[in-house]
Amino acid sequence: MIQVLMYIGITILTVLVMEFVAWSAHKYLMHGWLWIWHEDHHKPHHEKEGFFEKNDLFFLVFAIPSALSYIVGLATPQRWLLFVGIGISIYGLIYFLIHDVYIHQRFKWFRQLDSRYSRAILRAHGSHHAKTHKEDGESFGLLIVHPKYFKKRSEWNEKAKSE
Ligand SMILES: [Zn+2]
Ligand SMILES: [Zn+2]
Repeated sequence: MIQVLMYIGITILTVLVMEFVAWSAHKYLMHGWLWIWHEDHHKPHHEKEGFFEKNDLFFLVFAIPSALSYIVGLATPQRWLLFVGIGISIYGLIYFLIHDVYIHQRFKWFRQLDSRYSRAILRAHGSHHAKTHKEDGESFGLLIVHPKYFKKRSEWNEKAKSE
């Protein structure tokens, strides 16, 4: 029983840690020397061709530590690593569903989703995309959103007008 709780804990912790890993990878690598793979994600929609972006390669990059955790976790007594692998997979799935499907609408699913949190995520990532250059971006994370993006719709519209 205690072991089950421990494994669930490790999985949840990994999902949370992945938000910070993704944030720092986005800020320091993707907007750094890996900009060559990330640049096309910041291009305006009409300049894109085809379904895939070079940016999608990052899903493969993050699949490597995940796969290694599965393999080592299953093949050695270090069983906890299996749950690190599962945590990374879950974060990847959440990232795909929120970032690629909900925000960028690569599939037409759950577009009607509307809550304070979902609006905050949209605004935060929208302000990330407002910059099309490598430098001085903001909102590099996905799930953890600056409180300023949680303002009520009316307050937000006022702010947008005054800018
Ligand atoms: Zn970016
Ligand atoms: Zn994006």
